[in-house]
Parts: sequence; C-alpha cells; structure tokens
Amino acid sequence: MIDTHCHLTSRVFAGREREVADAAEAAGVRAMITIAVGSADAERALAIASVDPRVFCSAGVHPLHCGEPIDWEVLRRVGTHPRCVAWGELGLDRHYPTPSLAAQRDVLEAQLGHLAAWTAEGLAKPIVVHSRKAVADLLPILAASGLPRERFVFHCFTEGPDAARAVLDFGAAISFTGVVTFRGAPEVAEAAAIVPLDRLMVETDSPYLTPEPHRTVRPNEPRLVGLVAARLAELRGIDPLEMDRLLDANAVRFFGLDRAAS
Ligand SMILES: [Zn+2]
Repeated sequence: MIDTHCHLTSRVFAGREREVADAAEAAGVRAMITIAVGSADAERALAIASVDPRVFCSAGVHPLHCGEPIDWEVLRRVGTHPRCVAWGELGLDRHYPTPSLAAQRDVLEAQLGHLAAWTAEGLAKPIVVHSRKAVADLLPILAASGLPRERFVFHCFTEGPDAARAVLDFGAAISFTGVVTFRGAPEVAEAAAIVPLDRLMVETDSPYLTPEPHRTVRPNEPRLVGLVAARLAELRGIDPLEMDRLLDANAVRFFGLDRAAS
C-alpha cells in the first residue's frame, strides 16, 4: 500500500517520524508522501524524505496557511530534489471564516503562476489540491493556470457525486481518506462509486481523519491507509487485494514514485 497524503511534519509526530514509518511498513505500507502546507514545512518534509527511503514529500502552500510567510525560492528549491514528487497542497477552503477567500485566492493564483514558470523550466510535477466546499470556485482557477488538467488530484474528497463528476469532467484524479468510511458521510461513498478506477487514490491525511473502525484513535497514522482501501474495495465490489494493487499502481504512476525512488 501507499499512503499518498500524510503530514509527518505534524507536531504530534515530532521525534517519532521513523517510528510512524516503521509501523506503516509493518502494516504493509511501503511508501508514503508527506505533504507540505507552507515553505518552512516543505523544508521539514524534505528533511524527513531525504533520510527515509519510504517517505517522499511535496512543496506548496495550504490555503489555511496562506497568511504565514511564504518563501517561493525555498519551495522551488525543495521542488528540485528528487524525493519531492508533487506540488501542493494548494487550493481553497470555505469551511472556516479566516483566512478570507480573497486572501486564499491571491496566494493560490500566485502559487499557480510560480508552478507554471517552474514547469516551464523543467520542474513538472503532479499537483495536490485541497478543496473544501470549493470545487466550483477552484475549477476555473485551475483551468486558467494552463497547467495540464490530468496532473491535478483533489485530495481528501468530502463531497458528493455531483462535485466528483465536475472534477472528473475537468480531468483530475480524486483521492479519498477515512471520511469515506464514516457512516455519516454517505454522499462521499456515492462519489467514490463513480471515480474511474485508474483515477482513484487513497490516503490517510494523518494525523487527521482516522478511518473506521478506529475513528476514535488519535492521531491517525499512515499504517491505517489499508482501511480506506478496503472500504473502496467494498464500495466497488472488487477483491481487496486487487484493489490494493490497483491503487498502488495509480499512486506510482501519478506521482512517478518509481523514478523518484531510484
Ligand atoms: Zn493534507
């Protein structure tokens, strides 16, 4: 299994990063991508990924961190490292009143501008999108960036089939977390049922969103990503081992993990 989205730089894992990766490996998780939420965080993520062959990282600014200092040069430099396999996470979040949507949008557009420039200089990477109640706002902005649509993945998808269809029509991939195992979120399960099997991925988004039946366990960890995959197998009526194989192949192909590992 591969956990395509976790936050090993989270304070709750401080000093235990290797232990968390060991526990993941013992549970059959052979790789994980620790996703950055800002430029300083991207440096921390790379510090973990560059010493642990099981861990890859990303570089980007999360919308809820858009008010923190951003060093674009640091993001570009992290992006030049072979262990950095994605840009992001970036996007829009309508769940909280602050930062304002306008402030989030300014940083998002600036970030996409940098990504277009860095892509032109040879740093093309997949892009991890954070969208909370914001698919309709995001799609035109992503389209205007001119970046290839199949390179985007909407991570931690928490909306229903209509929003999923809009993302799929746009051309992006979709990734699910433990939310798809929650009984209170049937619309997310409905969304998971319509994603083409070659554009489907799984993640923990740990330390958040522990999947059922361990929902009360905190923090969530990459070792639990198999529970999300098992739920997708159940929803799609596919043998769980076959689903694991399929999800792994998608993650390796989408993030270029075979190239990054060598
Ligand atoms: Zn995340």
